[in-house]
This record gives sequence, structure tokens and C-alpha cells, in this order.
Amino acid sequence: MTVQATPSPSAVYRRLLTYSLRYWPVFLAAISAMALMSATEVSFMALVKPLLDEGFWKKDPHFFRLMPLAVVGLFFVRGVSSFAANYSMVWIARRVVVNLRGELFNRLLLLPVRFFDRQSAGQLISRLTYNVEQVSQAVTQVPTTLVRDSLTTMGMLAYMAWVNWRLAVFCFAVAPLIGLIIQFVARRFRSISRRIQDSVGNVTEAAEEAVTGQRVIKIHNGQEVERRAFQQINERNRWLQLKLTVTQNTSDALIQFIASWAIAAILYFIMQPDQLSAMTPGSFVSFMGAMLSLRSPLKNLSSVNEPLQRGVAAATVIFQLIDETPEPVGGTRALARARGAIEFRDVRFRYADDAPEALRGVSLKIEPGQTVAFVGRSGSGKSTLLSLLPRFYDPQAGEIRLDGHDLRDYPVARLRAQLALVDQQVRLFNATVAENIAYGLDPPPPEAKIVEAARAAYAWDFIEKLPGGLQAPVGHNGVLLSGGQRQRIAIARALLRDAPLLILDEATSALDTESERYIQQALARLVEGRTTLVIAHRLSTVQSADLIVVMQDGQIAESGRHDELLARNGLYAALYRMQFEAA
Ligand code: ADP
Ligand code: MG
Repeated sequence: MTVQATPSPSAVYRRLLTYSLRYWPVFLAAISAMALMSATEVSFMALVKPLLDEGFWKKDPHFFRLMPLAVVGLFFVRGVSSFAANYSMVWIARRVVVNLRGELFNRLLLLPVRFFDRQSAGQLISRLTYNVEQVSQAVTQVPTTLVRDSLTTMGMLAYMAWVNWRLAVFCFAVAPLIGLIIQFVARRFRSISRRIQDSVGNVTEAAEEAVTGQRVIKIHNGQEVERRAFQQINERNRWLQLKLTVTQNTSDALIQFIASWAIAAILYFIMQPDQLSAMTPGSFVSFMGAMLSLRSPLKNLSSVNEPLQRGVAAATVIFQLIDETPEPVGGTRALARARGAIEFRDVRFRYADDAPEALRGVSLKIEPGQTVAFVGRSGSGKSTLLSLLPRFYDPQAGEIRLDGHDLRDYPVARLRAQLALVDQQVRLFNATVAENIAYGLDPPPPEAKIVEAARAAYAWDFIEKLPGGLQAPVGHNGVLLSGGQRQRIAIARALLRDAPLLILDEATSALDTESERYIQQALARLVEGRTTLVIAHRLSTVQSADLIVVMQDGQIAESGRHDELLARNGLYAALYRMQFEAA
């Protein structure tokens, strides 16, 4: 487990910005457009002064003719620049979303099995969907507001200072106070946003469990329990959202209230007789206009905090995931096609540092082409032992050798290419029968090959009857097929893969006798010429194995051929008698 220090919010935001700064020409264009927008706004205010002073005061007809043109011109520039700025920003935001999502997804594909053991699918999916969207606002709305509204504010303030600097000072005076409030509120936003994102993850998680476990819920009449559990999660999300709104609006109101003091002070001083005489009506009106039009950019600036903190909270979690250590890629030893000699040397393994050992010193030698059966009580470590071969996990002590070399010497991808695995829970993808059988093969094999594999797996007779045959869809996780049919597709998949090593983990345990007979025949074919490791409950299926290994409490209790083990009258003989009597 990798323990990561939480990076500072500003570091997270800087990293996030690199995603949008990658498109810096567009970013630059957007910012220029925004600057133009601010300029039009300040210019508009600046027009008021000559309008009153020159126009009304001096009644200059030439000036009156120019004004309408200037207004239309300004609004035209404003419209074009506003479109350009907004479009460029959304363009960048969508790129950022696509890139982050892509990076996240690619990382998920590379993360070790161990990572998925401690993460729920629902939480991971909600990061990919919800969190990423939260980030998009932070990289667009936030820079937009920061640039456009800061520029407008500064422009207005500069204009006000130019008209009357003494009065403008009041506006500067309240700035630090507002800054303090924003800082305090930011921390609160971030923590609430983080909790909201987790709670959206909980919603996804609960929904996912209810949807995938719907049959269990129905048979146990668990609807009421699920409904209540979900209501709690649902309500918690609502409550957190309200909390965020309260914080947002309280801070907005507070900031505006403080700003009102600056306005009040200015109004008070403007009314002083000597001040009034010093200003022309144009100056006075445009000063007041500029000051009042500060309201909207200031409001935007103070509320930019919320999407910013939401984005930072989301990005923190996203980056944590992107930074997770991927699976090792393995060594560089060449491996075209393994002979299939396997050796376990005093292998010890535990799932977590504080978990008991699942394997406590397993040593075993398997010759190429042998069929080795693993039996023993459930929980004795059979599946764990075999899951070390594709390096789903690595042992903490001891080593596993393939053809005389440690598994870690080979590239992981090459190692896995040597293995075909059929287990109890066949996982089919929502695609056609043919695509499922040929899964992972690049280039896709010709159809004749797929048919051949399907025939050998005794799957052809039912595939033929499906509407569409090989091109029939299997449905989400193969729900349109029966358990036995799914299993046979998995066997066809393993056959087509033609790997020198075969792992069968209770591949037939969930089947009825009829399908099992078919599958036994299919398996007999699959086993030919390969090193096969098979875990089976039914001892009838293991009797013919070259070697039977009896596991107990993470250790090998005894091993040998069927007759030898029976003669020994140990654990295997006991298991055998138990099954024999049951039958
Ligand atoms: P078997 O296949 O012989 O029934 P397993 O190898 O599945 O037994 O399990 C061996 C032990 O490891 C059990 O005590 C089980 O609880 C534990 N175990 C199995 N899988 C995991 C896992 N993913 N995380 C933590 N513990 C596990
Ligand atoms: Mg098992």
C-alpha cells in the first residue's frame, strides 16, 4: 500500500493548470479576448464623462452624432470577444476532461490486483465520471473570472483613480479585509467539496451493488434494507450540498456588506461642499457608475472560490489515483513459448501486512506437460497459490520459477501470454460470441479458427442455435447465456489462446452433470500437451492427474498419485471417503 502525503492545494492547482496550459496558444487567445472585453466595459463607463461634460454641457452636435456609433461599435467588439473567450475556455476545458479521463482510465488498466482488492468499483467509477467534471469548471470558469473580472476591476479602479484618486483610496482600503474572508472560506469549501465527492462515490457504490445484486435482494426481500441504506447516503449528499450553499452565500453577503462600507464612505465624502465643487457632473456620474459597476466583477471574484475549491478537492483525489504505482512490468528475459516447467520454492504469501499468512512455505516441482490437481478444504490457499503464477500477486518470500527462471525475470505481458485461465466466475464482455472467444488476440483470428475452438470446447452445438450464431451478442456479462454455456465459451477462449500453461480453478464446480460431462470432454482436449494446474471439488475429476497436491492451512499436507494417496490413508483418503459416501 502506498501512503502518499497530501499535496498542498496550490500545488494541486498548479498541476491542474499544466493540463490547460498545454494548450497555451488557445489560452493566450482566450485571455486576450477577455482583456478586450474588460476594456470595452471600462471604455463604456469612460464614455459617460464626455457625454455629460461635452454633450449636455457644451451641446456639441458633432459629439452627439458620434455617440450612437461608439455604443454600437463597443457592443460589437464586446460580443465578438466574449464569444471568443468563452468558446476557447470551453474548448480547453473539454480537452482537459478528456485527457484526465483518459489518463485515469489508462492507469486503472495498469493498477495491480491488490489495488482493486481495497477499492470499490463504485468509488472508482464516480471519480472517472463526477470528479473529472468538477475539475473542468476549475480550469475554465476560474481562470476566466480571475482574468476578466480582475482586469475589469483594475481597469475600473484605475479609471476611478484617474478621475479622483482621493475617493478611489476608500475602495482599496477594504480589499485586505475581503481577502481574509475569502481565505477562510476557501478552506471550508475544500473540505465540504471533498466530502460531497466521497458521498457521490457512495451513491454510485450503493447503486452499483443494488443493480448487480438485484437477484439476491429480491430473494431475501432486502428491498427495505437497501432502500433505507440508500436514503441515508442520498440525504447525506443533499445535506452537504446545502452546507456548501450556506457557506457560499454567507460569504457573498458578507463581502458585499463590507464593500457597502466603502461605497458609503465615498458617498459621504463626495457630499462635502468642497469635494462637490471640484468635480464636473460628468466626473461625478462616471465615478459613481464605475464604482457601482464594480459590483458584478467583485461578486464573481468572491464566488470563484467555490468552483476553485471544488476543483482542487476533485483533482487531489484524481491525481492520487494517477500517481498510484502501476503493476511491475517485469524483467527482460526473452520468452517465446514456455516449456511449462514450474517450481515453487518455499513460497510464503499474505494478502496484507496484518493478515495471517495464506501460504506458509509451499515447495513443489511440476514437469512440462504434467497435470497437477490441487485439493483441500475451502480457504486452504489453492486459489491463492495459482494466482501467483500470472503475478496477480507476488510472494513475500520464496520464489516461483518457470523454465528455471524466476517469474519476475520475464516481462509480465510475455509471462501472461503463456497462461490460459478458466475459473468459476467466467467474465464475458458485452460483445458477440466470436469477439468473446477471440478476446485479447491481435490480430483477430480467422473465423474458421474460432469455430474450431468452439467445436473443441463442445460449445458449437449451442452457438449454432443462437440467433446470429457466432455474431450473437452475449449480453452484459453474458447474462443471455447459461452458466454452462458461458463456461464452454471460456474454455473455447482458452483453447484458441493455445497457451502452454493452463489453470483451471474450479472451472466445472457450478455446473450440472449434463454440462459437466461436455466440459470434462472439452477439458480433456484442452489439457493435451500443456502443463495443467487444476483445482477441483469433485475428486472424480482429479483421479487421473499425474500428481495430486493436498493443501491444508496454506501448506502442502501431502502429495502423490491417487492410489499412493489412498494407500497412505491420510487427508486425501479421508476427503475421498467423504465424497464417496455422499455420492
Ligand atoms: P481456496 O482457494 O483454497 O478456497 P483461497 O486461496 O481463496 O482458498 O484463500 C486462502 C485464504 O486467503 C483464505 O483465508 C481467504 O480468506 C484469504 N483470501 C483469499 N483471497 C483474498 C483477498 N483477495 N484478500 C484477502 N484475503 C484473501
Ligand atoms: Mg478457491
